[in-house]
Amino acid sequence: MTMITNHMPTAELQALDAAHHLHPFTTGDEINAKGARVITRANGSTLTDSDGNEFLDAMAGLWCVNLGYGRNELAEAAARQMKELPYYNTFFQTTHVPVIALAARIAELTPGDLNHTFFASSGSEANDTNIRLVRTYWAQKGKPSKKTIIARKNGYHGSSMGSASLGGMSAMHAQGGLPIADIHHIDQPHWYAEGGDTSPEEFGLQRAQLLEKAINDIGEDNVAAFIAEPVQGAGGVVIPPATYWPEIQRICDKYEILLIADEVICGFGRTGKWFGSETFGIRPDIMTIAKGLSSGYMPIGGSVVSDEVASVINQCEFSHGYTYSGHPVACAVALENLRILDEEGIVARVGTETAPYLKQKWEGLADHPLVGEAPIVGMMGSIALTPHKESRAMFAADAGTAGVIGRDACFANGLIMRHVGDRMVISPPLVITKDEIDTLADRAWKALDATHARLKEEGLMKAAS
Ligand SMILES: *Cc1c(COP(=O)(O)O)cnc(C)c1O
Repeated sequence: MTMITNHMPTAELQALDAAHHLHPFTTGDEINAKGARVITRANGSTLTDSDGNEFLDAMAGLWCVNLGYGRNELAEAAARQMKELPYYNTFFQTTHVPVIALAARIAELTPGDLNHTFFASSGSEANDTNIRLVRTYWAQKGKPSKKTIIARKNGYHGSSMGSASLGGMSAMHAQGGLPIADIHHIDQPHWYAEGGDTSPEEFGLQRAQLLEKAINDIGEDNVAAFIAEPVQGAGGVVIPPATYWPEIQRICDKYEILLIADEVICGFGRTGKWFGSETFGIRPDIMTIAKGLSSGYMPIGGSVVSDEVASVINQCEFSHGYTYSGHPVACAVALENLRILDEEGIVARVGTETAPYLKQKWEGLADHPLVGEAPIVGMMGSIALTPHKESRAMFAADAGTAGVIGRDACFANGLIMRHVGDRMVISPPLVITKDEIDTLADRAWKALDATHARLKEEGLMKAAS
């Protein structure tokens, strides 16, 4: 077997990748023809590829490297734990120190009486847990007909059968027989794209009231829960109008249904507080966590539930669990990550210092002729590319055509932003410095100029009718 190392020529690594590796959310033929970019190293907020090019990673990997890259403490926590107890399960009436410590720490950090965590290795698994958990909860309470989970179009909750069913991504539902039964999707609070002439405040109320209508249509006796991200991440960083969440909370309080806040992106400092639920005044019964929990250094996720939900679930044997639920090494790394986020005041600094600075720079991008809006909360923001600012028009070309050009222009300018359709999104490491924020805004402006020039050249600055 060949030794495959960082020192191999990029073309050879790409050829092997094309020959043997199937990529997620990628057209294989396309990536294989041009060769995937090989990332070899990272430090702080900067990535390096196999040709020595550096990029400012304004996506924190996939929304997860909150602490930034290259923290030795996390590597050491993993090594210590691997030597002491690399693995044991939590099924057989057993437990271990890292899982106890992490569950207790999460209970301290999360708001309200969210005091009990069921662990998984990812956000997808945690949301699969949630589906079974809420249905088991109602069955246990003598209401087995309460099964339907209401979710939202263009929401993202993961890629497994259950979590992708909760998600409202049409491209995902089109493959593999989704969604599973008893999931109902309502429209999203995406004012820019769908609000028309309605004011954002009025539109936020209208979209929240769709939940009440759905509960009444399906019947309160048949509804188990509502799940939503405080801010839709993968949907394009859709920040709901200020009226949306209070109305959702009112409806959840009025009817007997559980509220699940999917905090996989919003959790652990992303919105400027520890949880998006705090930023938006949400009182969930269940929170999904993953990503920033370990800053992506190890795969770990979980469902954090209230005292009441735990007291009901604990009455039965919940026939559910993953080999790696509460994996000791992942727990040890997550604990160390939470310690640093707290002790170095990183979450606090985002809230009071770096996020306000980023906001001012980011909102400046809205002055660019190609940009329809540039909303941001904490360390997650988006820009809408548009051929016509005043009318918030979409492009006549297929959705994503301008977005891909924009994404490539960012790469060419040493900046990693993602595109979601024709929106560009950022979610940088929470440790990003003010200097790096200046660089981010400069490079983003240059990338917008380049994108604008190319769209004009190719005759793509046309509005959809
Ligand atoms: C990424 C994400 C998930 C899925 O997490 P994985 O670890 O990729 O399975 C779930 N919910 C939200 C909001 C996410 O952004």
